Amino acid sequence: MIYVLDATAFIFGFIPSKDFQLYTTEEVINEIRKNKLSKLKIDALISQGLIKIISPPNYYNIKVEEKVSLLSESKLSKADKSIIALSLFLKDTQREKVTIITDDYSLQNVASFLGIEFKSLTVKGITRSIEWIIYCPACGRVAENVKEIFCPICGHRMKRKPKKVSHHIKTK
Ligand SMILES: [Zn+2]
Repeated sequence: MIYVLDATAFIFGFIPSKDFQLYTTEEVINEIRKNKLSKLKIDALISQGLIKIISPPNYYNIKVEEKVSLLSESKLSKADKSIIALSLFLKDTQREKVTIITDDYSLQNVASFLGIEFKSLTVKGITRSIEWIIYCPACGRVAENVKEIFCPICGHRMKRKPKKVSHHIKTK
């Protein structure tokens, strides 16, 4: 079983297990390292060899770009798209099942159109009642209104996280 992790997976405290192979991309790692706490976690995982960082061949990036523009998923960041491209690449080259771990709806949407499985860290059913915090992953600004897409201070794309819900990963 191969899990491809996006930034939300790390921020929400995904717990690695020896039963899974974990992959992510340099873009995601760079995004995570902007937060001091997440940086400590991710650096520990890397130094223990628990996660592989791979850049997919450009062919897969192009394929994802095409799908993203077809679906008008303009909110996807470079890191989000890199995760999808990596998953396509792993699907083509590895014998194991590939699943993306992400709480990002746009990412899940594109993944499903490309036939890639995904899992959310939030338990099904709870997702709907979550109160979201919209925040800037770069400068930490918390948005006053949920419609803010880009940070008015530093221009980064805003992210969201739940206010208070514990996260578990459900495996079949
Ligand atoms: Zn900002």
